[in-house]
Amino acid sequence: MHTYDSDDLTAIREGVRALCAEFDASYWRKIDEEKGFPEAFVKAMTDAGWLSAMIPEAYGGSGLGLAEASVILEEVNACGGNSGTVHGQMYNMFTLLRHGSEEQKRHYLPKLASGELRLQSMGVTEPTTGTDTTKIKTTAVRQGDTYVINGQKVWISRIQHSDLMILLARTTPLPEVKKKSEGMSIFLVDLREAIGNGLTVQPIANMVNHETNELFFDNLELPASSLIGEEGKGFRYILDGLNAERTLIAAECIGDGRWFVEKASAYARDRVVFGRPIGQNQGVQFPIAEAHIEIEAADLMRWRACAEYDSGQNAGASANMAKYLAAKASWEAANACLQTHGGFGFACEYDVERKFRETRLYQVAPISTNLILSYVAEHLLELPRSF
Ligand SMILES: Cc1cc2nc3c(=O)[nH]c(=O)nc-3n(C[C@H](O)[C@H](O)[C@H](O)COP(=O)(O)OP(=O)(O)OC[C@H]3O[C@@H](n4cnc5c(N)ncnc54)[C@H](O)[C@@H]3O)c2cc1C
Repeated sequence: MHTYDSDDLTAIREGVRALCAEFDASYWRKIDEEKGFPEAFVKAMTDAGWLSAMIPEAYGGSGLGLAEASVILEEVNACGGNSGTVHGQMYNMFTLLRHGSEEQKRHYLPKLASGELRLQSMGVTEPTTGTDTTKIKTTAVRQGDTYVINGQKVWISRIQHSDLMILLARTTPLPEVKKKSEGMSIFLVDLREAIGNGLTVQPIANMVNHETNELFFDNLELPASSLIGEEGKGFRYILDGLNAERTLIAAECIGDGRWFVEKASAYARDRVVFGRPIGQNQGVQFPIAEAHIEIEAADLMRWRACAEYDSGQNAGASANMAKYLAAKASWEAANACLQTHGGFGFACEYDVERKFRETRLYQVAPISTNLILSYVAEHLLELPRSF
């Protein structure tokens, strides 16, 4: 099992930190203020090969495991950056790698590894069905050599900075399938061709500088070769990638948590009020100490999830619990950090309010905390399914 200080992970940490040093707090602050996209950072991460960590060497990547990938995203956030701008490439690649045909993998994976193509987007969520994914209404109807797509998606990230998107659509109507999880399929959509030819994109302004969009499909035609894996099995394919995705999100939250604890501790040591550092007051110390303990505990669960996943075991329980613990811990740390800074916590130049907004997202997306609790209740504790 990996630990923090194994040599290979330490080397990765140092490499990512060195890259992140080029993109300091003022870089991220400016991007956030302008609601811009960190193009230079994403390019540097791609060129350095960090985003292709889990693509096998045979397809131009580094063939590393989930443990190594998780350290990469953790360090970006621990350095004050936002890996929400790049993580899609890692998450979405799993679907193609695990379920794509050899031809699709040979065509796309080397281009993703080199940065020639970007696969930053996945379209699952819909406005009228939300978390109840099996009820999605977007349809894909086979007509000869094409699939015709109609429907709507919401909250789809990074469309403006992606060439490709994984799309989940229903290929067999709900009443005609034995189980509601059947009859959905996934497609690899070439956004460069689709936008303006049946796909309309409408950005959604939101509290984080996280590029999200509403998508409208109006008779979008996709070549039949865009189908990934077997028709009808798309929901299972999406679920397959979730344990890795949840573990990576946990690592990102752990990175955020470490940033908040360090920032709060430094401020509490330096800020003098009533003639002594505020950090001398237990009312200030304890929430920071508590956040530190919770992040360390979440980290242990994250390593368990990585070890299980990388050795081919079922990581479902650990990945879900790691994501739950880490998202909660980073949010507690964010709160403690903001409170420690008093009024200055609200000042953009301290970066606390930006990271506070960024880490809050992970209690809602890509999966809400309640849905993790219901997974644990149903699958680990054998309680009746609640929905
Ligand atoms: C910034 C951002 C980026 C996103 N990026 C993407 C993306 O790239 N691709 C994509 O497909 N989606 C994306 N999403 C969507 C995200 O995955 C969903 O918002 C999330 O899964 C919750 O779905 P919902 O918003 O429809 O909430 P709803 O399903 O409407 O749920 C609302 C609330 O009710 C709770 N709830 C619902 N049902 C139950 C239940 N049975 N038991 C207990 N509680 C319940 C939920 O936990 C939640 O708190 C993004 C969202 C955001 C905000």
